[in-house]
Formats: sequence, C-alpha cells, structure tokens
Amino acid sequence: MSKHKEPAELARDTLKVLGERGLPPSPEHYANVYQELGGKKATEATTSGPNWSALIRDLLRQLEMTHKGVTLTRKKEGLEVVLSRFASKPDVMSEKLNGLMRSWGGGSAAPDLAPPSTPVAPAATTTPAAPATQADGQDLLKQLRELLAQSLETTFSSHPELTDETKRLIKLVHTTDDPKKINELAKQLRQFWLKLELRGGDKVKIQEGLLRLLRLLVENVSELVADDEWMQGQVSALQTIISQPMDKHAIADAERNLRDAIIKQSTLKQSLTDAKTTLKSLMTTFIDRLGNLTESTGEYHQKIEGYSQQISKADDLTLLSHILDDVMHDTRVIQASALRSHEELLDTKKKADEAEERIKTLEQELMQVSELVREDQLTGALNRRGLDETLDRELKRADRSHNLLCVAMLDIDNFKKLNDSLGHQAGDRALSHLTKVIKDTLRPTDAVGRYGGEEFVIILPDTDLDAGVEAVQRLQRDLTKKFFMHNNERILVTFSAGVALRGKEEDQEDLLGRADKAMYQAKQTGKNRVIAAPALNI
Ligand code: GH3
Ligand code: MG
Ligand code: MG
Repeated sequence: MSKHKEPAELARDTLKVLGERGLPPSPEHYANVYQELGGKKATEATTSGPNWSALIRDLLRQLEMTHKGVTLTRKKEGLEVVLSRFASKPDVMSEKLNGLMRSWGGGSAAPDLAPPSTPVAPAATTTPAAPATQADGQDLLKQLRELLAQSLETTFSSHPELTDETKRLIKLVHTTDDPKKINELAKQLRQFWLKLELRGGDKVKIQEGLLRLLRLLVENVSELVADDEWMQGQVSALQTIISQPMDKHAIADAERNLRDAIIKQSTLKQSLTDAKTTLKSLMTTFIDRLGNLTESTGEYHQKIEGYSQQISKADDLTLLSHILDDVMHDTRVIQASALRSHEELLDTKKKADEAEERIKTLEQELMQVSELVREDQLTGALNRRGLDETLDRELKRADRSHNLLCVAMLDIDNFKKLNDSLGHQAGDRALSHLTKVIKDTLRPTDAVGRYGGEEFVIILPDTDLDAGVEAVQRLQRDLTKKFFMHNNERILVTFSAGVALRGKEEDQEDLLGRADKAMYQAKQTGKNRVIAAPALNI
C-alpha cells in the first residue's frame, strides 16, 4: 500500500482532496495539494479511495456547464452507460466518470491532471514535468479508447445503418495503442461524428421542415382552393421534394416559396375581393341608374331588380361577368324598344300636333259658323238669337259689376216709302249702310242687332241714360254726314229711337219693351228723334 503513486493517480487524488477540503480548483490550490500529496502525505492519499462527494459535485457542475458540441442529453446518456456498466466497480467507475467529464471538452474543472507551471511549481523537485506527461499520455489514451468504444456502441441503436462503420471504428480504437496513430484515428472519428451529427440533425430538421410545410398547406388550404391550378403546382412541388432524397435545403426552399406564395395569394385574394366589391358596387349603381333612367316596361324593371339581387349574392367573377352580359343584353333590347317608343312618340306627337292644329281650325270654323248663326245675313248685325245671347250676357255682367246699362230701340223712318221709291234691293242696301254706320260710330264693347224688318237694338254696357241718349244722337248726326248713296244720289236715312236705362234686376223683355215704348213715343212726336226711358228703380 506504500507504493509510489503515478503522476496521473496523484493528479486525481489532488482533485479529490481539493473537493474534500472545499477548495476551489484554482491553479494555486491544485499545485499546493499536488505537492503535498506527492510528498509526506502520499500514502494517506492512496488509502482514501474515490472522493465521491467531490466527483459528484464536479459531475453536477459539468452537466450544467455548456460544452461545445455536447448536448445535455448526450452527457446524460454517457453518464447512464458508465453508471450501469461499472455499478459493481466503484474504483473503475470514478475513473470512468472523470474520463467522461474530460470527453465533454473544455471548461472542465479537472481537464488537466498535471499542475500548471505556475511560479510556485519550481520549488517542488519530486514532480518533473516530462515523465508525468508521458505517463498521462498513456493513461489518457487508455481512457480515451474505452470511452470512444463505449460511445460508439451507443450509435448501434440510434443509427443501425452505420453498424458496420461503427464496428470498424471500435476495432480501430481498441487496436490503436500507438500515440502516433492517434491523429489518424482522431481524424476518422471526427468525420464519423460529423456524419452522425449531420445525419441526426438533418433527420430532425427534415421532419420539422416537412411538418411546417404540411401545416402551412393545411392551414392555408382554404386560402388556396380558390385557385386549383396554383394548388396543383404546389402539391406537385411537394411531391417532388418527398420523392427525392431528403435534403434540408430543398425543403427550406420549398417552405420559403410556399410561404411567399401564400402571402402573395392572400394579398391577391384580398385585392380580388376588393375589386369584386367595387365591381359589384359599380354594377349595382349602373343597373340602378339604368332602371331610373329608362322609362320602360315593368318587365324590364323586374329584371333589373333581379340582377341587383344576383349581383349582391355573386362571389365569382365569371358569374358577375355573365350577369353583366345579361344586363347588357336586356338593356340593348329595352334601348331598342325605347328608341321605337321614342319614334312612335314623336310620330304620335306629330299627329297630335296636326290634330291640335286641325282642331283649332275646326274650332275657328265652328266659331265662324256659330257667329254666322248669330248674325243677320243681310246686314252683319246680330240676329234675334245673337241679340238675345249678347243681351243676356251683358245683363249678367252688369249685375256682377253693378254697372249701368242702356238699350236703344231704333226704327227707320218712312222705310216703306224708300222701298217703294228706290226698290227693295236699295232698301236692303240702306239697311246694311245703317248697320255699318252704327258699328263705325259705337264703341267696340257696344253691340248692334237687327230686331226685325227695319228695327235695330243697340246694347250700351257701362252707360248711363244721358250717355246712351248722347251716343244715339251722335249716330243720328253721323248719318247726316255718311249718306246712303243710290245711283249717285245722296239718300238721307233717319230713324226714331227710344233709349231705356236698365232698372235693378230688370229682364230683357221689360227693358226692350220700355225702349220700344220710348221709340214709339219718338215716332209719335215727330220721328228722327231720341226718347229717353229712365229706369223705374235703380
Ligand atoms: P214709320 O216711319 O212710321 O216707321 O213708317 P215706315 O214706313 O217705316 O213703317 P212700316 O212699318 O209701315 O213699313 C216698314 C217697311 O219696311 C215694310 C217693309 O216692306 C219694309 N221692310 C221690312 N223688312 C225689309 C227688308 O228686309 N228689306 C226691305 N227692302 N224692306 C223691308
Ligand atoms: Mg218698323
Ligand atoms: Mg219704320
């Protein structure tokens, strides 16, 4: 038990002691304990066995530390292998565990078994550097071989397709005892790990990539179905990827392309929806205006209403296009119909204008005929009927306006004698001459009618009795100036007249009777004179 310790053993013991004493593994502490154990306390150290508390503490710390290229899972797997394989050999286990920690790489609390060459080191003569390094190299090589072998064995289960290569490498590891060949072994191992790393990493990434692709497709399938052609293109692209050997770059490209395409598709769909909404709005407005502008049949309006409803429900450009075609067709039909109607309307209006013109002509003719009916054919004065209508109208007007009205009754003096001396026709012309002089002398509002034979009635609206008598006397005077000419002979025509002022609500018969009575008085009192007949009550 008192044999001299190898430097590697001494180094491990140094670490244990540091752990036992709770000292941090600084270079100074390490050097001090190493020297201490290598000298007077070396024997004590050999009998102490593995320092489990230090080892476990170190293990925990190493587990938590980050080592490049070594995941926590891999650390735990390695740990599990060592623990299960060397459960009955505590001494070996402690060495294996230390070796395992060293295999995790830099950052270890005990990566170096030899003390660093610090300024305190030269004082120790019992720890020469060279022998220690050589011994450490052999020991390390042994540990490394074991560790590599057991690590490689773990790849059997995870990568059975690499079994042959793994076996070859395990054999190589076991047979490589020459430190010079270590570099070659390390190179092959590095390549192998790289292959494993890539293989494991690719598999996960490919699976994740495919999952993302599928998720993208599933999530966006509702967005994509609107365009079957595009969907088929994407599916065929996906099938190409799946049919070929898995390549993470191809999947990443496909995912990027698919994502870009979905974004574009989504944007396009939104634009399309906006465009459709705008188009629908435009079409609805257009159709509504058509409906308002076109004065047409109820059938067309019903169709237009139907189209508006169809447009509001339509969600497909093709359908909208068809509806628009139908609208255009019906509109053209109705426009043609409207044009025909317009032409018909113009024609009708022309006919109506013509008819109106004809009606006016007819009315004028009728009026003329009516006037004729109311006129005395010989003289042009009102006949008895015309005189009756005119006097009736003027009496009513006088009642409404409360204006005065006179009527004069005229009878030609000695007319029988004129007829007898000049002839009946001369008598007729004398009657016409008198009528003309009366019309020329009286106001436009006055009216003259032939009451019978050589008797005339003059109606004088808005005239009191004096003015009425005056008007008739003026007529008498005019007749002395405007002679009736017969055979170049001036014939004086005179008349006797009675002028009656209308009494309150006096009727035609009474009024004319009083005028006739006054005219008779004029005859009786010498002829060629005017007798006034004042109203009985006003
Ligand atoms: P007085 O001065 O009293 O009125 O005498 P007078 O001759 O005018 O009266 P009378 O009643 O005796 O004669 C009227 C004549 O008027 C008789 C008739 O032949 C004539 N006469 C009536 N109507 C017409 C007519 O339309 N044409 C002509 N030429 N003579 C007519
Ligand atoms: Mg008479
Ligand atoms: Mg007479």
